[in-house]
Amino acid sequence: MTDPVPFHALSTDEALTRLNARPTGLTRDEAARRLAEHGPNRLPEARSRGPVLRFLAQFDNVLIYVLLAAAVVTAVLQHWVDTGAILAVVLTNAVIGFIQEGKAEAAMGAIRSLLAPKAAVLRDGQRVSLPGADLVPGDIVLLEAGDKVPADLRVIEARGLAAQEAILTGESVPVEKDTRPVAADAALGDRRSMLWSGTLVTQGTARGLVVATGQGTEIGRIGGLLAGVEQLTTPLVQQMDHFARWLSLLILLISALLLAYGYFVGHQDFGALFMAVIGVAVAAIPEGLPAVMTITLAIGVQAMARRNAIVRRLPAIEAIGSVSVICTDKTGTLTRNEMVVAAAETAEGAFTVSGDGYEPRGKITPAGDLARLARAAALCNDAALHERDGQWFVEGDPMEGALLAFAGKVGEVPPATRLDAVPFDSRHRYMAVLTGDGLTLVKGAPERVLRMCGDIDHAHWHDRAEALARQGLRVLAFAERQQAGDRIDAKALEGGLRFIGLLGLIDPPRAEAIEAVAECRRAGIRVKMITGDHAGTAAAIAAQIGLAQPGRVLTGADLDKLDDAQLALEVMDVDVFARTSPEHKLRLVTALQANGLSVAMTGDGVNDAPALKRADAGIAMGLKGSEAAKEAADLVLADDNFASIAAAVREGRTVWDNLRKVISWTLPTNAGEASVVVLALLLGLALPVTPVQILWINLITAVTLGLALAFEPTEAGTMSRPPRPRNAPILTGGLVWQVILIAGLFVAATFGLFNYAIDQGYSLAMAQTMAMNMIVVLEIFNLFFIRNMHGTSLTWEAVRGTKVVWTVVILVTAAQFAVTYLPPLQAILGTEAVPFGYGLLIVGIGVVFFAVVEIEKQIRLGLRDRPGGTEESA
Ligand code: ATP
Repeated sequence: MTDPVPFHALSTDEALTRLNARPTGLTRDEAARRLAEHGPNRLPEARSRGPVLRFLAQFDNVLIYVLLAAAVVTAVLQHWVDTGAILAVVLTNAVIGFIQEGKAEAAMGAIRSLLAPKAAVLRDGQRVSLPGADLVPGDIVLLEAGDKVPADLRVIEARGLAAQEAILTGESVPVEKDTRPVAADAALGDRRSMLWSGTLVTQGTARGLVVATGQGTEIGRIGGLLAGVEQLTTPLVQQMDHFARWLSLLILLISALLLAYGYFVGHQDFGALFMAVIGVAVAAIPEGLPAVMTITLAIGVQAMARRNAIVRRLPAIEAIGSVSVICTDKTGTLTRNEMVVAAAETAEGAFTVSGDGYEPRGKITPAGDLARLARAAALCNDAALHERDGQWFVEGDPMEGALLAFAGKVGEVPPATRLDAVPFDSRHRYMAVLTGDGLTLVKGAPERVLRMCGDIDHAHWHDRAEALARQGLRVLAFAERQQAGDRIDAKALEGGLRFIGLLGLIDPPRAEAIEAVAECRRAGIRVKMITGDHAGTAAAIAAQIGLAQPGRVLTGADLDKLDDAQLALEVMDVDVFARTSPEHKLRLVTALQANGLSVAMTGDGVNDAPALKRADAGIAMGLKGSEAAKEAADLVLADDNFASIAAAVREGRTVWDNLRKVISWTLPTNAGEASVVVLALLLGLALPVTPVQILWINLITAVTLGLALAFEPTEAGTMSRPPRPRNAPILTGGLVWQVILIAGLFVAATFGLFNYAIDQGYSLAMAQTMAMNMIVVLEIFNLFFIRNMHGTSLTWEAVRGTKVVWTVVILVTAAQFAVTYLPPLQAILGTEAVPFGYGLLIVGIGVVFFAVVEIEKQIRLGLRDRPGGTEESA
């Protein structure tokens, strides 16, 4: 017997009654009971492909098609051993790919859960912040601009409220909302008394009564899903994917030509020739490359998450590694956002305030009457202080928490009802409330509040505010007005307020931010502070933090006077921007980009979204940031800390390096193997390695060894290199040279050893076994060479390597011993037991190879270090 009248058509009281709720919220017990009854407020997750499909997808690859075709051909030719070997390799390769991909997807899934939104809710009459999943019908939710609506809500209190409901209605213009009921048959977009789950609050504040959760919400009903796991890819990986595809086709074409040449011109036996050509294709195609690159990304994402930087959009992992300028907020990012009121000034004089943290006890000297200031501080305030085990915590804005603590130090402030309020907005920079006894209390930026005050000495108070700011204090001014009526008339405030006084708040810089700024500067990255705070405060904090040019400050008003061309010039010489609004951030990003810089920009408010989207790497604050900012951002900082940005840059550079290492290792190795076979075919010589051996090398050992590079730690000196240029290509001349050099050395070593063994009178099978082992040994030495792309490999650090490197080397070595010496495997791979002395010779040749490539690298790095060179190898 459900009531036919829908919630949007009920009055707020009727809605509360229907859900047996009160404006002060549910009790904790009642909420727990309802949670058990209704279940968590969660939408079903987008289902990812099932394991069977995921496994089958591993076979969707040009090389695998070729191999399957080859298996059929060898079966027709009745070369059963070859058929078996090919199928075994195909299967092993698919299993390895399947496991790797599963790990990567799981990593991304775990990251997503870190981003689960929270909601501010009233429970037992107190404001608490809860995971959105814990909401139940009857809960009272508090919302402000930038919040994502966590469930379907009946609005029971609204101030200047508007929401963007595009995900439900397709309408991108925000809709104004209030508490009045609407017609029962109103369309979804016209139900202005409701806020819908998943939509964004674009302005104002609200209280809402939860009327539906989880799949009962509108978005749940139309089958909305949580954002699924994003595909693990970035521009670079996509580029390489394409490259690998085209390369595969090219190689197949060349293989077909080789087949035709060998058969029609060389008159070779078709069966053997066919297998040899398959060997060339397998050797040359970098089949493991895309998979290993994906793993590299997944590991990078996890490493960043450990450093409190959560990647929302994967391409950002590349972008953050290349930033050349970081624009950062001040409050909470460079500073601790643990505020304490330290100074007060009224017409009576100046006072110092003592006490630590949010504890509302401390001394104010000299003694004086600060009751009016305390009343304004306590009542024009949305925060709450809680005590737990002797510790004081703030719920809400830390600055407002500090104001409550200050009021507590002055004395008890009697509570008052609130008739109306103008919420704080970074554009008008003040907040006002109207209490039950007709008192309008205003707090805000001093120049803004002073402008609203009547007959006082403006010049004097501006000077006083300036003096406090110069000490690095955040300054607030307070004013009041007695009025009639129950609405605040914003126009009547202008010029009609009575000034009360100023408060100065300490917000100390974070020690780790000072360190991180220095690290960024060593890494050739400029750091710029963009804050809504006063110019004096900003400059003082900038000097404490160690910005390069803390003295020059441009304010939002200064920026408005510059056109885009002038701004593009100025922006290079100024590191501190004060009293800015979100629109200025967008202009600054554009101006910096016009100088060819790669920009990281932080943001927290709903209006920061355009700047975050425009930046090369948009970074939102995880703690104080709005959902709107998080959704627009590429990265979210779990701890709001500037040091985490520097850590993300470091990890981003590491990922880029590792991707390059994976590529620089794979391509020359493939080219080397392929050259050996092609040369033998063209010269009509015996193959130094058999096709089945090539399958083994390429699909088993190479993928295993290459994977080690995905786990490479940050190279020393990574943060003392300048940023790589924007859009730096990956396939550079240097890489091409490396491919040629290493492929040449592979050919020389393998052919040399093979011919030497034949000359010594060994059998063909024995010589081939030696050549196969030679290739694997070269791969291992090449791995140690590539690990230190920017430095020398001849340090203890480099030799000690990492656990992963040694694990794969030991695994691969053991596997090589097995295929060389175990009879059953010998039968499949056509190998023979290599004499011990030759084993040593093979390793010896590996050492010579390593010496040659290492010396070549040192010469190359040395040349770069000459005058005019970069800091690359510092
Ligand atoms: P950032 O985080 O970018 O460093 P900010 O947090 O200092 O900037 P805003 O939040 O835009 O910048 O605040 C700008 C100014 O508005 C502050 O310096 C302060 O004077 C005033 N202000 C901030 N919060 C409030 C508030 N809740 N009520 C009244 N005034 C406020």
